[in-house]
Amino acid sequence: MARTILVVEDEPTLRETLAEALVTDGFRAVVAADGRMALEQFRAEQPDLVLLDLMLPELSGIEVCRIIRAESGVPIIMLTARGSEVDRVVGLELGADDYITKPFSLRELSARIRALFRRTEQAVIAATPSVIDLGGAQVDLAGHRLLRDGREVPLKPKVFELLAVLARHPGQVMTRDQLLEQVWGYDYGGETRTVDVHVHWLRAALEADPANPAIVQTIRGVGYVLRRPA
Ligand code: CA
Repeated sequence: MARTILVVEDEPTLRETLAEALVTDGFRAVVAADGRMALEQFRAEQPDLVLLDLMLPELSGIEVCRIIRAESGVPIIMLTARGSEVDRVVGLELGADDYITKPFSLRELSARIRALFRRTEQAVIAATPSVIDLGGAQVDLAGHRLLRDGREVPLKPKVFELLAVLARHPGQVMTRDQLLEQVWGYDYGGETRTVDVHVHWLRAALEADPANPAIVQTIRGVGYVLRRPA
């Protein structure tokens, strides 16, 4: 369940280059060659981020940005022509989150995308209550503590961070790669097996019956999901 990025660009070579680079970076890429197709793809695919060229046939990038923003808070990065200051200002006024001027390096684009996803993630963190109730256990995000029956359960720091990431996204399946990225960071060259080991430790601390986990559940072939008891 990689994050999906919609690439809206009428220039075929650039469009394909961007799509390939995104796939190499571990994203799922969907493409659109004009403004109308962009809106269709946006509504059909519900991407996690939109790369939006400004100069497009059918509907301009400005129009597309305005319409998408009216429907969704999805992060939008505008691709603008060199030196077009006006476009940049208009793009940001329309609610684009960032812009990048052509020609740009794929490395720079990749950095911008990651920065934007980090900001989005921080907004999720800011909107999460500081204590999450899991029935018999409470995750105290501000205090970095897990409580069971009112007592603190000692956890290794990474095990707590893993719990915190899962608890901020209840009901949402997180892949091992997403967990590695969010708990250990992009530059950690670790293996997904690390995640499984930490999940094992987390269940031992959290679950009433760690062999039959009710809270941190395995989604076979995908990753893990935290279920809050009803
Ligand atoms: Ca164009």
